[in-house]
Amino acid sequence: MKQVRNSLIPLKPVLVSRVWGGKRLKTEWGYESEKDEGLGECWAVSCNQQVDSLVTDGFYSGKYLSQLWKEEPQLFGKKEKDAEFPLLVKMIDAKGDLSIQVHPDDAYAGKHEHSKGKRECWYILDCPENAELIVGNNATDREEFNRMIKEKKWGQLLKRIPVKTGDFLQIEPGTLHAITSGVELLEVQQNSDVTYRIYDYDRQENGKPRELHLRQGMDVAIVPDMFSEKSVIHTAGRDNLLQKLVSTPDYTIWTIGINGVASIGRLTDSFLICSVIKGSGRLNGIELEKGMHFIVPNGYPMDRLEGKMRINLAAPVYD
Ligand code: ZN
Repeated sequence: MKQVRNSLIPLKPVLVSRVWGGKRLKTEWGYESEKDEGLGECWAVSCNQQVDSLVTDGFYSGKYLSQLWKEEPQLFGKKEKDAEFPLLVKMIDAKGDLSIQVHPDDAYAGKHEHSKGKRECWYILDCPENAELIVGNNATDREEFNRMIKEKKWGQLLKRIPVKTGDFLQIEPGTLHAITSGVELLEVQQNSDVTYRIYDYDRQENGKPRELHLRQGMDVAIVPDMFSEKSVIHTAGRDNLLQKLVSTPDYTIWTIGINGVASIGRLTDSFLICSVIKGSGRLNGIELEKGMHFIVPNGYPMDRLEGKMRINLAAPVYD
């Protein structure tokens, strides 16, 4: 890659083991790990205590994302000096079912956890036929919601939504949700770790059930559910045409399928996180391939995308 300051910033994905994880992140995406199974998460673009992404090529090769965020604010169009890196991008490979959880919004998380809340979204990379995800709840009011939880009427309470490969789902804070077995997805979320687990299928880990956070989960859940009905977007845009998937107070997400040549110019006054989820090609002459995640710095023009590939793009919205 060319050694110019204002160019792409590719980052090294880090695999994280999870009991429910599969092996596709290694076998189908080529991410490195000493383990062969239980590879549940790939932290693709991360700047926090758990994972600090390493730049693998270009002018900033060898630096960590946290360094760039601090030392090179112009790359990010950053407005506030002390702000934390806004987003976190992961890939998830669920061999088993994940626990049912809910995230707080910024107001609740700020008050109770001294943290940002978590808004997140999913792009389905692969899933079994007739797959369903858990998104939302069926309770008509809070009394019924609390009763269904106390009486463990999970089948009645949890809303299941059919999905297929290529679908996109926006998960608002306060929405009960869970990824189900066989689903593989790309997740963009606020850079926050606040998760309230409300049900774990009564499973045991090391001989005991995992901790639940029922009180907090019941506090933050939105009842009746307002968002889940419209949470799914079927992506079926035309080739070489950018499709905006969602615009929220924290991020905007687009997808584009390239087949030939496209130009998308400048989308944001912050920066972009791009994930190549299918195929290969070039951006302004720079080689791209499936599984690459990179930052497009503020002001870098996406003038010439070519090849046969699909790229998902995320831009943060600054406060
Ligand atoms: Zn979540």
